[in-house]
Order: sequence, then C-alpha cells, then structure tokens
Amino acid sequence: MDLGAVERNCRRLRELLTDGAELCAVVKADGYGHGAAQCARAALAGGASWLAVATAAEAAWLRLRGIDARILVMGALTPTEVHMALREDADVVAWTHEFVAALPDRRAGLTLPRVHVKYDTGMGRLGTRDPDEVRELCRQIAEDPRLELSGLMTHFATADERGDEHFPAQLRRFTDLVDELRAAHPGLLIHAANSAGTFRDATAAHFHMVRCGVAIYGLDPFGADPEPLGLTPALSLESYVAAVKRFEKGDGVGYGQTWRAGAPTCVGVLPIGYGDGWRRSLSNNARVLVRDRSHPLVGTVSMDNITIDLGPETDVVPGDRAVLIGRQGGERILAEEVAARLGTINYEVTCGLTGRVLRAYPREG
Ligand SMILES: *Cc1c(COP(=O)(O)O)cnc(C)c1O
Repeated sequence: MDLGAVERNCRRLRELLTDGAELCAVVKADGYGHGAAQCARAALAGGASWLAVATAAEAAWLRLRGIDARILVMGALTPTEVHMALREDADVVAWTHEFVAALPDRRAGLTLPRVHVKYDTGMGRLGTRDPDEVRELCRQIAEDPRLELSGLMTHFATADERGDEHFPAQLRRFTDLVDELRAAHPGLLIHAANSAGTFRDATAAHFHMVRCGVAIYGLDPFGADPEPLGLTPALSLESYVAAVKRFEKGDGVGYGQTWRAGAPTCVGVLPIGYGDGWRRSLSNNARVLVRDRSHPLVGTVSMDNITIDLGPETDVVPGDRAVLIGRQGGERILAEEVAARLGTINYEVTCGLTGRVLRAYPREG
C-alpha cells in the first residue's frame, strides 16, 4: 500500500476545492480495503481535515489507533451504536425527530452530541425527503441545549454518470434550501459531494466540505483510468510464483479442468485465490504480471491458488514476484480493469480483499 499516494491524492483533491472547502476523507470499510487508520493518517497529512466512516465501531477503531481528527459517522445507528459514536466524540447524522429526541444527554467529560441533518434530495436511501422536515430538524437540534447542530448534508446517486439529469436536479434541490438554513444557522457546515461529485461540479457542489472516498485511494470514481484525473492508485496486490510446471498438449489445470493446454507450455502456480478476495469469476478471465510481462490466468480460481500460462519458453522461476493489481515494469493492471472483468466497480474489488491478505506499508524512498 502506497500511503504517499493517498497523501498526494488528498493534496490533489484539495487543489480542486472551491473557496477553501474542507476535505473529508472517507475511510469506511477499512479504508476501502486499504487499511482505515493508516489511510486516515496519510489523508490528514495530505490536508484532509475530517474523516468519515459508516459505523460507530469504525470510529472507535480510528480512536483506538490514536486518531483525534473530527469523525463523521454517516450510517444508521442503533441506540447502542449512538452511545458508542458519541463516546468516541464522533459526529452523527439524523433525519427523524425520534432519533434526535432519543439522543443521550451529555455526560461528564463528553462534548455536546454534534448532529448533521440529512436531506434526501434523490438518493432514496437515508435522509428525509421533506424540506420542511429538514427545516424542523435543524430548528429542533439548534434549540435543544443538549445538542449542537453541526451540519447539513445530502448524497448524490448519479454523480459518476457524467451528463445525466439527476445529479443537477439533486444539487438544485439541495442548494434551494442551503441559503435559507445558513441564514437561520450561521455555523452550519454544508456538505454534499462524494468523489465523483467533487470532480464533476467544482463550482456548485463543493459547499463547505466534500466527502471523498474512492478518489483518495487513487481509484477513478468514473470507473476508467485514474491517471488523467491526477490520481495515483495506492493499492497493489502482489503474490509470487510458488511453482512452475511443464504442461503437454491436452493437460488440464485446476478444479473442473476448465482449461487445457492447446500446445506444450509452462504453468505457474500462485498462492492466492478467492479466499483472499481474488474472485472465482476471474477464472480464465484475468491476467498477472511476472517478470514485467502479462500472463493470462488459466483455469479455475480456487480458494488458495491460481494458475497462469507462462508460455512454452519461460524464464519465470519459483519465487518470482507476481502483480495482480498494480505496476510492474512498463505494465499496469488497474483495479478498474479487474472490476470490468467482474462486471462490478473498483470499490468492490478493493473492499473485497479479505483479512488474509497481508497489508504492507513500505516506507517511501
Ligand atoms: C461512501 C460515501 C461517500 C464517499 O463516496 P466515494 O464515491 O467513495 O467518494 C460519501 N458520502 C457518503 C454518504 C457515503 O456513504
């Protein structure tokens, strides 16, 4: 994991931000599989001033690792989780009067519960759809001496679909309410954009803060190549060649013998599989870099191993490094390529790497 890349990606995002808007680095789901605490620290070093997670336990994990930045817990919370989030001095999100009324009083040593109101402008998920209810919630929280009204937020459903009509419609609905609520509540922190929204509309969508996840890891929010956006992938997924064996024409490999050598060749065995999150649908449908060359994955991905075709004459030997995502020599495999092969998005590829994959954070230089 290249934490320097996370830091640089955050710097790059900060350069884009309008009028000194703040950058909130989203490190939910263990930092999209990259390691939440490590990436949080790198993001803060790169100029992020807030962190966001989905659950209270994720906030507790960051605190446990000594991170004292502002944390927004964005998800739905049970009463137990609310207590946990507040104990960790995290901000929480509200969209019902019942939730606000049930927020616990401040206890000794704790700050006032800080609350962000969520307006569902067209995501159709968490948040209230009713602008009057947004106004009411803001008033209810602001008038409650036990609470602090901290922010107003929304979330975009289609920011990654450039040119669509839904994103500007959501933005309009949100903007319509922003001026009025800022006038009523001067300190209110307004935030809406995810990574795609941050790139897509730099003039109107940034408000006081953007919440970027995927982009801070150097993944392209539009699912293409992150490089033209000035982003560098932080993650590389590596394994090594554990064995090389000769195959004669007709020899098959792996479960179901789904691939057979069409001619004499050499097959390399790599100790990584779907138990690591290298999904089984990549069977006969991926490539791996060894010795700066690309080799097709052949046969079925099993839990602990995959096999690659090295060709009839190979200099590859056991112990050679193998790159499944990342760079080797002049070759590059993007998480976006793996996602396209799987019919999914880059987010799911990195989030799907399991706990068995050792996360290494080499120092730069
Ligand atoms: C995950 C999430 C984000 C970050 O989205 P990216 O597309 O990864 O930038 C922002 N806001 C909310 C509410 C989220 O759940």
